[in-house]
Amino acid sequence: MPETLLAVRNLKKYFPVRTGWLQPAEYVRAVDDVSFTIRRGETLGLVGESGSGKTTVGRTILRAIAPTAGEIVITLSGEDSIDLAPLTRRDIRPLRQHMQMIFQDPYASLSPRMTVRDIIAEPLVAGKLASGDEIDRRVRDIAERCRLNVEHLRRFPHAFSGGQRQRIGIARALISNPSFVVCDEPVSALDVSIQAEILNLLEDLQQERGLTYLFIAHDLSVVEHISDRVAVMYLGQIVELAPTQQIFAVPHHPYTEALLSSVPEPDPHIEMQPIPLKGEIPNPVKPPSGCYFHPRCPYVQDKCRAEPPLLREYQPGHFAACHFADELQLVGRYTPPEAAADSPH
Ligand code: SF4
Repeated sequence: MPETLLAVRNLKKYFPVRTGWLQPAEYVRAVDDVSFTIRRGETLGLVGESGSGKTTVGRTILRAIAPTAGEIVITLSGEDSIDLAPLTRRDIRPLRQHMQMIFQDPYASLSPRMTVRDIIAEPLVAGKLASGDEIDRRVRDIAERCRLNVEHLRRFPHAFSGGQRQRIGIARALISNPSFVVCDEPVSALDVSIQAEILNLLEDLQQERGLTYLFIAHDLSVVEHISDRVAVMYLGQIVELAPTQQIFAVPHHPYTEALLSSVPEPDPHIEMQPIPLKGEIPNPVKPPSGCYFHPRCPYVQDKCRAEPPLLREYQPGHFAACHFADELQLVGRYTPPEAAADSPH
């Protein structure tokens, strides 16, 4: 069993909002008591609608923003575990090379005034990790690994396509040899044909370099192909977490079932039957009582309005936060192996 690289415990990130000068501040609970671990070399997919808090989880773990409460314990190879949560910006600086981020928008995340060489070299220069010819050697090396043409390193980002720009962003993230990378919707701004190329590249680089990924996406079909396990977020909380095949075959939370029902089927003969969710994601300043999902849940009962469900383990490694997780017969995307064996067809 590979060791744990990252352990997030009871992480909270609340943003204050004021409705008037004399009103006390209220808080947007963007991340509301989230716990999970990621093993070394693993990819954990983090999915949910926009506003579910998944990007805030990624940014808080990397300490781009400070957490309100909780622990973010990272264990780098051959080093003692460090809790990043209480560290100052100055304390974090030497750790940045080990933890990097790949951004969603390859157009907005690259400075138009810098050459591709300088963009990729930025983490080495900022962290004083290399100088002189060593920088050029490492830029060429990572550019080749990210399948970029090294003859084009003196060009500016506008001369590149969306897919090539995302390769530049990946090269920049990996040049400092990080152990852990947060991939924040890295393919959602790209054409479908390019998405597969970038996902394959990320998988190849993971194999080559032993990388550990937190892969954030709103699209479950993207997460399915790259993740070992999937965590589903709703209104700042994790409502289900399980190995990828298991969560796709037998979801234990009605929100996961609804998300899975909207994943497009590759077989045009299979008719999609998306489960409509009532209304919008609720206001995170005043989340609903009991189960946060109850105003939209097709299986809601009285208990759901009164008591918040705990995230409990229903099968080994399969957690869900629903009072009726072991009673509901929810529909997944594949036939589970045992059901397929019983089937007469
Ligand atoms: Fe739905 Fe109730 Fe389960 Fe919440 S606890 S997901 S409202 S059935």
